[in-house]
Amino acid sequence: MNSGSIPPLSNHNLTLAMSSSSTRRRAAARLSTALLALCALGAIRAAWAGCFEVRDAQYTRLRPLVSRNAKKALTVVNGLLAGLPAGTARTDPRRLAALYAVRADAYGELGLYVPSRASALKGLALVRGRTDPLRLALLSDYALSFREPAGMHKARTLLKSARAAQRPGSRNDICLRIVQGSVNLQQDRADLAARELTEAYLQSASPPLAEARMDAASLLAIALRRMGDFDQALGLIGEVIRWDAAHGSASNLAIDAYLQGQILRKMGHFRRALVSLRRARAISLSQGAQQGIAYADLRICQSELRLRRFTAARRNCDRAAPVFAAGKSAAMVKEAHTLLARIDLADGHAARALTVLNRVLTHDGKDMAAHEVPPVYLARARANAALGNYRNAYADLQRYLQLYSARNQTARMRLQEALEVRFHAKEEVERNAVLRRKLRAAAIQARRQRQLLHWIEIASIAGTLVIVLLSYILMAGRRHRRQLLRLANEDNLTGIPNRGHTAQLAAAALQSALARDRPLTVALLDFDHFKEINDQCGHAAGDHVLREFARLARGALRATDVLGRWGGEEFLLVLPDTTVGSALSSIERLRLLALGIVPCAGDPHESGPRVTFSAGLATTAEGARTLDEIIARADSALYEAKNAGRDLVRIDHESCRNAAEGAPM
Ligand code: GH3
Ligand code: MG
Ligand code: MG
Repeated sequence: MNSGSIPPLSNHNLTLAMSSSSTRRRAAARLSTALLALCALGAIRAAWAGCFEVRDAQYTRLRPLVSRNAKKALTVVNGLLAGLPAGTARTDPRRLAALYAVRADAYGELGLYVPSRASALKGLALVRGRTDPLRLALLSDYALSFREPAGMHKARTLLKSARAAQRPGSRNDICLRIVQGSVNLQQDRADLAARELTEAYLQSASPPLAEARMDAASLLAIALRRMGDFDQALGLIGEVIRWDAAHGSASNLAIDAYLQGQILRKMGHFRRALVSLRRARAISLSQGAQQGIAYADLRICQSELRLRRFTAARRNCDRAAPVFAAGKSAAMVKEAHTLLARIDLADGHAARALTVLNRVLTHDGKDMAAHEVPPVYLARARANAALGNYRNAYADLQRYLQLYSARNQTARMRLQEALEVRFHAKEEVERNAVLRRKLRAAAIQARRQRQLLHWIEIASIAGTLVIVLLSYILMAGRRHRRQLLRLANEDNLTGIPNRGHTAQLAAAALQSALARDRPLTVALLDFDHFKEINDQCGHAAGDHVLREFARLARGALRATDVLGRWGGEEFLLVLPDTTVGSALSSIERLRLLALGIVPCAGDPHESGPRVTFSAGLATTAEGARTLDEIIARADSALYEAKNAGRDLVRIDHESCRNAAEGAPM
């Protein structure tokens, strides 16, 4: 097979829109391809099948089956191809090409690269558009089907020319770069892979390409790890794992956690490596991915060995080896056996270790991955030394050093490339750091805004509280003022108006009476011998008499009448619209009420002092215009009543003329 057998490319172009369902299908496709890569390369998350936007119905329908069960997919596709009309001339070529693409993927999945390549070629003969994603997916299957250097070289040339036809930075361009990276990794050219993958990683920064970016990052992490740039590799794989975790791709998460474990192990962080590897194992277990579990077990075994926990190490290697054997992964079986031999050696079973290592090195390591061979020679050198076979031990050691220095030589030669790549990657890491800083700043700002809102909320609550409080104070103030006013106007003992307020009320009533030209009568009442009541019954009893009188009198008077305490045991009574005659009858009512009050408690038989008062009356009728004048007249009438013997009412002389005659009560 050579590149000449590839049909010429045409300008036919197909633009395909993206849909979420196709994204999901692609994700599913990538998942299993990733598992294939896991087996083929020791955990490489490969992207070629998922990266291109193939929208042909047959492909999108059958590709998930390849992921789930490649063998079954192969049966189905072969069945469909066999059922097509003879000669395939009457079949839609695109449909046919899509079926070939599925078959190429399925063979590839099963590690059957030669039939995979054949199927890819058949498909390529039918699809010509140089930017057609179906053609590029077929081309990727073809390119990745080589295992020998010459084929891989051809694949590289093909991919390069395919890329030349793509718009730089387009999805096709980026996906092809990722395939180029994969091919380079398979060729153990991590340096070249890192270059393509870094570009792919840098160019896929836009959201629709996020998945491709993560594929690039995952592969780039492998490349960087192989180049010894563990810090960068670890940073990248961390980013990919965060993305995987957020986007729910369990299989990718398993592979990326595995890669993280690998990097940590290479860095000598065995305990941290174990955490990642166990995570990978748990996910593989939940997915029923036997190969994934076996890979995790193998690396767990390796880490446990480095931690000198031999029992745990042996348990994990013992579990992994048969799975690799069943999967016909000879190289992996050898790796597991080498580890078991090293455990034996550390455990003191040198003879058993030597037997196993001899078997591993049957073909002098030519059937193994180059980087796996030197440690096996070193282990065998130790086993031989432990058994006293110094000559053999020396030969193994020589071989080990040879292989080791050869590898280092290559590594040194590639250092220049690596440095360049590191520079690029560092730039991107810088860019990410700036982005992270911006995000952090935005988060801080958001937090500040939240805090501000919080304070505004608190302030408004506080404001409301202040308003409530002020209203309360205001209301309380009003109440207080009312209370003060009441206290200022009211007599403490009796609750009726005090002298000041009585004077006000009396003045107002007088003004009203004069204005309306209506009569108004004023009476001054003074209790007789009140001192005696106090003396005989106690001051409290005197208070009681005053209070009772005020209460009873208020009840017996009209609402318009004013009764106020004028001082001590003296009251002022103002009777609007009342002649002296009418006033006399009101006073008579009050006299009787006073008489009914028993001053001394426990004195129901009235053996104690009687409650009487004397009163002086004056009226407006005879030209008295001021309150003082009227009160003065009433006062002199009262004086007369007292002098006349008490318990009497006297009417002011002037008032008398128009009134009924003052009469003793
Ligand atoms: P008169 O018949 O001449 O008015 O004799 P009187 O004892 O009532 O008169 P006087 O003016 O000599 O004394 C008034 C008494 O009234 C003296 C005072 O102790 C008493 N008094 C004044 N205000 C109160 C009061 O609020 N409660 C009590 N319990 N007694 C009062
Ligand atoms: Mg008095
Ligand atoms: Mg008195």
